[in-house]
Amino acid sequence: MDLGFTPEEETFRQEVQAWLQANLPKAWRQDGKGGYRDEEDTDLQREWQRKLYEGGWLKLGWPKEVGGRGATPVMQAIYQEEMARAGAPGILGRLGVTLLAPTLVAHGTDWQKETYVEKILSGELIFCQGFSEPNAGSDLAGLRTRAERRDGKWVLDGQKTWSSGAHYSDKSFLLARTDSAAEPHKGIGFFLVDMHQPGVEVRRIKQMTGGGEFGEIFLSGAEVEDRDLVGQPGDGWKIAMTVFGFERGGLAQAARFEQAVDELAALARARGAGADPTMRQRIAQARIEAHVFRLIGLRNLTRAQHGNAPGPEASMTKLFWSEMDKRLQETAVGVEGMYGALAPDSDGAIEDGRWQYGWMWSQAETIYAGSSEIQRNIIAERVLGLPRGR
Ligand SMILES: Cc1cc2nc3c(=O)[nH]c(=O)nc-3n(C[C@H](O)[C@H](O)[C@H](O)COP(=O)(O)OP(=O)(O)OC[C@H]3O[C@@H](n4cnc5c(N)ncnc54)[C@H](O)[C@@H]3O)c2cc1C
Repeated sequence: MDLGFTPEEETFRQEVQAWLQANLPKAWRQDGKGGYRDEEDTDLQREWQRKLYEGGWLKLGWPKEVGGRGATPVMQAIYQEEMARAGAPGILGRLGVTLLAPTLVAHGTDWQKETYVEKILSGELIFCQGFSEPNAGSDLAGLRTRAERRDGKWVLDGQKTWSSGAHYSDKSFLLARTDSAAEPHKGIGFFLVDMHQPGVEVRRIKQMTGGGEFGEIFLSGAEVEDRDLVGQPGDGWKIAMTVFGFERGGLAQAARFEQAVDELAALARARGAGADPTMRQRIAQARIEAHVFRLIGLRNLTRAQHGNAPGPEASMTKLFWSEMDKRLQETAVGVEGMYGALAPDSDGAIEDGRWQYGWMWSQAETIYAGSSEIQRNIIAERVLGLPRGR
C-alpha cells in the first residue's frame, strides 16, 4: 500500500486549492455547519455545479477521448478531499453527474449521449433516481412499476419512493418492469422519464430532520419515447448494476470525518464535557475511527490505481463509514447534554443545531446505498464464504 503522494500529485492538489481560492466564495463554504441542508440551498447548489462544470472539474476522471481530463483515481481523490476541506457545497445534480452521466457513456445510444451528458453535467437538466418502491428497496428486483408498449411508446404505471430531489428534477432515471413473465432480474427496463408531464406526480416526504429532501413519484400513464429507453427492454438490471458501481465513498469523507471530530473536540472543550471520562473515551475513539477510515480509503485507492475494480470491500467501506458516523453524531449530541434534545431550528440550539441535524441525518446513512444488514450479507457470503441466509 502506498501512503504518499508524488510531486505531480502535490502540484495537482495546489491547482485544486488555487481554483477553490479563486472560485468558492467564503459565504458558500459549509465550514462548521456539519450536514448540508440540501432542501434549502438549491439555487446555490445549481450555481456551484455550473462553476465546477465551467472549470472542467466534473469530467475530471473521464477519459480524454470523451472530453475528460483522464485524471487518475488518486487525483480524483485529491480533488474530492480538497473540496471537503474547503467546505464546498454539494451540487444540485449530484445523482445525474455521479451516477447517470457515466452510465450513459457506458450504455447509452449516441443520441442519448449527445442529448443528455453535457446538460446533466452543466446542471441544465436535473435527474433524480427512481429505483426504490414501497415494496422493493433492498429487494429491488421485486419492483412492480409496469412499462407497456402502447401506440409506439412506453406507458408507465406504478409508484416510486424515497427519490432524492424528485420535486426539483426535470427527469428521472427509472426502473420499470417491461416483461412480467420473465425472471425478476431479466424483465426490467431502464427509462429516462420526463418529470414535467401529466402522468407524473411528485409528493414530497417530510423527514425527521424537518426537511423534505426526497419524495414519492406516482406514475399513471406516464409516456416515454423509445429513444429514452437505455439499452434493450430487458437490460435494466445490468444497467442498474453499472449505476451502483459509481456509488462509492473515499478520501473526501475521511477529510470530512476528521474535520468533524476536531470540531466536536472543540465543542467538548468549550462545554466542559472534555473532562467527562466517558466522553473523552468516545471522542478519542471517533478520532481513531476517522483515521482508520482514511487508511481504508488509501487502500481502496491503491487498488483502484492498479486497475482493480472495487469488490466486496466496497461493502466494508460503506458499512464502516455509515456506522462510524452514527456513533460520532451520537457522541456529539451527548456532548451537548440536554441541549442535544432540542430540535435543530429551536432557540438555544447549539451551533445552529448542526449536531442534532447531523444525528438525525446519520440514521439514513445505514439505509441508503445498501443498508448495513445487506452489506453484512455481502461480506458474509462473498468475503467469508458463508452460506446464503434464509
Ligand atoms: C436518504 C435516502 C435517500 C434515498 N434516495 C433514493 C433515491 O434517490 N432513489 C431511490 O430509488 N431510492 C432512494 N433511497 C431508498 C434506498 O435505496 C432504500 O431505502 C434502501 O434500498 C432500503 O430499502 P427499503 O427502505 O425498502 O428497506 P427494506 O429493504 O424494506 O429493509 C427494511 C429493513 O430490513 C433489512 N433487510 C432487508 N432485506 C434483508 C436481508 N435480506 N437480510 C437482512 N436484513 C434485511 C434492511 O437492512 C432494513 O433494516 C433513499 C433512501 C434514503 C434513506
